[in-house]
Amino acid sequence: MTKYIFTTGGVISSLGKGIASASIGKIMESRGFKIALVKLDPYINVDPGTMNPYQHGEVYVTEDGAETDLDLGHYERFTSAETSKFNNVTTGQVYNSVISKERRGDYLGKTIQVIPHITDEIKARIRKAAHASGADIVIVEIGGTVGDIESLPFLEAARQFRLDEGYNNVLYVHLTLIPYVRSADELKTKPTQHSVGKLREIGIQPNILICRTEKPISEEMKEKISLFCNVAKTAVIEARDAETIYQIPLVFKEQGLDKIVLDHFNLRSRSTDLKDWNEKVVKRALHPKHKVTVAIVGKYIELQDAYKSIYESLNHAGIYNDTRVIFKKIDSEAIEKDGALKFLKDVSGILVPGGFGSRGIEGKIAAIRFARENKVPFLGLCLGMQCAVIEFSRNMCCFKNANSTEFDHKTKYPVISLLEEQKNVKDMGGTMRLGAYPCRIKAGSLAKRIYGKNRISERHRHRYEFNNKYRKSLEKGGMVFSGIYPNKDLVEIVEVKNHPFFIAVQYHPEFKSKPDVPHPLFRDFITAALKVKR
Ligand code: GLN
Repeated sequence: MTKYIFTTGGVISSLGKGIASASIGKIMESRGFKIALVKLDPYINVDPGTMNPYQHGEVYVTEDGAETDLDLGHYERFTSAETSKFNNVTTGQVYNSVISKERRGDYLGKTIQVIPHITDEIKARIRKAAHASGADIVIVEIGGTVGDIESLPFLEAARQFRLDEGYNNVLYVHLTLIPYVRSADELKTKPTQHSVGKLREIGIQPNILICRTEKPISEEMKEKISLFCNVAKTAVIEARDAETIYQIPLVFKEQGLDKIVLDHFNLRSRSTDLKDWNEKVVKRALHPKHKVTVAIVGKYIELQDAYKSIYESLNHAGIYNDTRVIFKKIDSEAIEKDGALKFLKDVSGILVPGGFGSRGIEGKIAAIRFARENKVPFLGLCLGMQCAVIEFSRNMCCFKNANSTEFDHKTKYPVISLLEEQKNVKDMGGTMRLGAYPCRIKAGSLAKRIYGKNRISERHRHRYEFNNKYRKSLEKGGMVFSGIYPNKDLVEIVEVKNHPFFIAVQYHPEFKSKPDVPHPLFRDFITAALKVKR
């Protein structure tokens, strides 16, 4: 019988519900259970693929090509659970399918309502994810904050789940904030009481409270929270701000969260201590021997979430290299204004991430030129690869003003362009080259040294491709095309000769890095950066 844990959030957003859910997943997995994680998102978009990073942060891409919420990235980084299109359910998807069924006549004669039709669809999708994964424990994270209008149908579905599945097969975890009020020098529990009150109004009594706090929560305060929120004192878990997110599973484990879950579900399992995770990830992340500064040249650098998986992948590479990676986040438009030297002269590595639209492109190209000419280790991702090709074409192959047709559709040298199949695409949602594609690696290349394999598979999310018309000329100029998608002969990896580390890829390696298994590209990028003396 599958067990279900629902996580909700209260008081404010951005409390780290995704990390909390992933951490619960981690500790239950370490006890030998197969787990799956599902994110329910209350917005009406079918997926986040059409939202810009200011609205949504990073769009995380799964193996099967679903464009999903960035919390799925946490799920995959913390646990060995694989996510797919079943693991992110949005209000848009739910209504879309209910309305199509209605038009087909599936509900003939009936009035279609939020309860039961929308809630049934939500429950069916949770069960589908459970079934597809074959998990023992499914953790369902409900987006938004309790009290929002939008998330009500999801909460109602979560309430009904316990009726359907039985009391001991469903558990509710509520993540809340215990704010510290400086003027009173006190932690305050009232917002949590109200937030739990709101949940109870809906019919959900949380079993576990995870309390985000800046300061330690005293025993008396735990008693008070327990009494007012009707939650066992042992189930009031303190979650103080941690130095690294990878500590959180240990914090939960120390307070016996896994035991509370097991008791509720009447499950038994051996106890584990997460020793490997502690030794290989947490300790190394907290006390690195070296440090290195790398530049991230993008246009959403002021947002914490826009390049989430990239920052995490760099952290993983740091953990492996016993190094604290310091991010120098540079707005590519600032480089356009003041030149690359001003911002890049003191960095040991330069990374140009993915992106869409022409704003800031010339700054990225200037940063890549700086990396190439000054032999600074360079890693280009997706748009970063396309910009590397543009830079090389302009400055090493005399293709003056070469460009991608995304930014200049009349360019004389369209070194990056659309495939015929993309030219006919009308709908914007879910129509890019998405998800995992195989890639063949060239012998003797840097890519071969990095991966140590001839064939790899990586995840994609882009419309434009390298234009094969220019392959010969660029090769003559010294560019190496070291990774190819064989079925369509598409360029996946480019390198530059006579450079210590210059590699750019059309795909997104950042979606496949884990704290204990860093992605080889990031791992070797940081190793190369460490060799640069600054
Ligand atoms: N805008 C480019 C394309 O669509 C790159 C996309 C990306 O970096 N994810 O091909």
